[in-house]
Amino acid sequence: MLRPLQRAGCFGRLVAARLLAGPLLAAACAGAGQEMSDERWAAERQRMVAQQLRGRDIRNERVLEALGRVPRHRFVPADHQADAYTDFPLPIDFGQTISQPYIVAFMTEALEVAADHKVLEIGTGSGYQAAVLGELAHEVFTIEIVEPLAERSTALLQELGYRNVHVRSGNGYAGWPEQAPFDRIIVTAAPDEVPKPLIEQLKMDGVIAVPVGVGEQVLQVMRRTPAGLTTIKTLPVRFVPMTGKPK
Ligand code: SAH
Repeated sequence: MLRPLQRAGCFGRLVAARLLAGPLLAAACAGAGQEMSDERWAAERQRMVAQQLRGRDIRNERVLEALGRVPRHRFVPADHQADAYTDFPLPIDFGQTISQPYIVAFMTEALEVAADHKVLEIGTGSGYQAAVLGELAHEVFTIEIVEPLAERSTALLQELGYRNVHVRSGNGYAGWPEQAPFDRIIVTAAPDEVPKPLIEQLKMDGVIAVPVGVGEQVLQVMRRTPAGLTTIKTLPVRFVPMTGKPK
């Protein structure tokens, strides 16, 4: 669906260029497909931010800017790329999904990420949420249980220049003790209860956002305080289940 559009755009430019300046500019169009499509993606991305995020209740400017920058279309499989900026979750491989943009924005906003924060994510998937966090935090550590997904997102995040995002393949139930403690933790697969090691790896005053439950879940935002954990139950959500529960 996209290719004919790009070609049509390029052809239009070519005709205009010829009319204006003769054949000299024709060569410029050879590389214009990429440029054209980048512009097109950027426009779709800005529309996504305006309608799906700002148009609802996302107000944190840093979060809006981050989602306005990360090229979501690079994180979805080629056959779903045309839908990258729609208001839906999309399938990635191995039966997993990349969350709807609004849910990524909502969870990121709820985390109140600061520029000096060290963040842990469980469930790297496509790497999209990790990239959004990489825009906002000092360092991001993310764990994915499906090894090929971990490998692919490692390569993509590197290609896109996210040097502050570190991907590891493994079981996220145990967290990442060598890098603990974390200012923020986000879990993007649903456990039936919050894994204890994750709470233990949270700094005092740190925040964890986690969808808890079986089937339909509630997104819980918990803060570690000297008096214990405070919990706010926010949206009903539907994440893939967290696998690999230790017996
Ligand atoms: N944050 C992702 C979407 C997550 S989909 C994105 O932005 O694309 C949930 C992911 O959690 C899946 O890739 C799944 O393989 C992974 N997952 C499930 N259980 C896990 C576990 N115990 N440890 C680490 N990752 C897990």
